[in-house]
Amino acid sequence: MKAGYVALIGRPNVGKSTLLNSLLGEKVAIISNKPQTTRVSILGVKTTPAGQIIFIDNPGIHKPLHTLNRRMMNFVYSALETADLVCLLIDATERFGHGDEFVVETLRKVTTPLFLLINKVDIIKKEKILLIIDQYKDRLPFKEIIPISALKRTNLNILEEQIYVVLPEAEKLYADDMVTDRTLRFQLAEIIREKLLERVEEELPFVTAVLIDSMEERKDIGSREKEEEEKSPETKILSVDENRPVLNSLSPNQRQKPGKPKEKKQRTKVTYISASIFVERDSHRGIVIGRQGRLIKEIGIEARREIERILDSRVYLELKVKVRKKWRDSPDVLDLIEGQR
Ligand code: GDP
Ligand code: MG
Repeated sequence: MKAGYVALIGRPNVGKSTLLNSLLGEKVAIISNKPQTTRVSILGVKTTPAGQIIFIDNPGIHKPLHTLNRRMMNFVYSALETADLVCLLIDATERFGHGDEFVVETLRKVTTPLFLLINKVDIIKKEKILLIIDQYKDRLPFKEIIPISALKRTNLNILEEQIYVVLPEAEKLYADDMVTDRTLRFQLAEIIREKLLERVEEELPFVTAVLIDSMEERKDIGSREKEEEEKSPETKILSVDENRPVLNSLSPNQRQKPGKPKEKKQRTKVTYISASIFVERDSHRGIVIGRQGRLIKEIGIEARREIERILDSRVYLELKVKVRKKWRDSPDVLDLIEGQR
């Protein structure tokens, strides 16, 4: 049996999180077209008859300007130390530039086996792949160079086979049904952030963070009135006592796969979730709330739908937008966000 850690490394936006989700067949990390979406390392465990691959999805390699970003880069460095294999992902649609040079320099010190994954080949001409291989092959000692599409799942089987060639003989490190090291609390906060990222531009993606303040499950309903109420779902509802205990995570096999809404069925529990969105300035707050509260409402509705599928529960989601000046340099806020692990 083989088992080991595979670090997914690369610049922001090259498709690391998309690849993680595709390899696992489950949404573990959020995706966006904005850089620096992933802020911490996320483990994704794939157990097969051949063994166990533990993927480490990481923040993108970038020059850090804030404490947040230094901490993001520390996740990258520690993943490089842990890994039995490093997969460097590059975006086939982008030209080689300073950012790529910085990545190559970062990896030069690494002695772990290295793969180059040329991602997004679904949207480039085949000839370009050869040019990219030429550009990269002498820069670092790659054991394998594999063109892939994380989105369309092209060549992912080949990738997995090659990973097993490199991984050491070892016993499984995690239980068979474990999919991620991240808690439900973290995942829910990330889902809210994903819906936010889909709707904001410019500096907003960088200056927003989401924290789950409280989560409480209540046995409820079954009654006619509540069924009626379900037909006109709302997002912002009750205020919830923030000191109530947090629910435990669901086991992975209770989780719903993305994009497959459950058959319409009566859900008999209700989960009350209260979350805070941190921004850095009053002007940011206005943007996130939107005109007549429209944007925050949209974010809430979209997030609630996805959370309901995951929890298999009706959900009341209360979102508050809080201004925390310079939170990206405030260790207490950063601890809170990372502490949702
Ligand atoms: P990360 O920052 O490296 O984790 O990148 P993400 O996984 O968040 O993806 C960044 C963007 O690239 C998203 O808009 C993805 O949909 C897109 N993307 C990722 N993989 C592919 C791919 O194989 N093909 C195409 N066309 N787009 C991709
Ligand atoms: Mg990512």
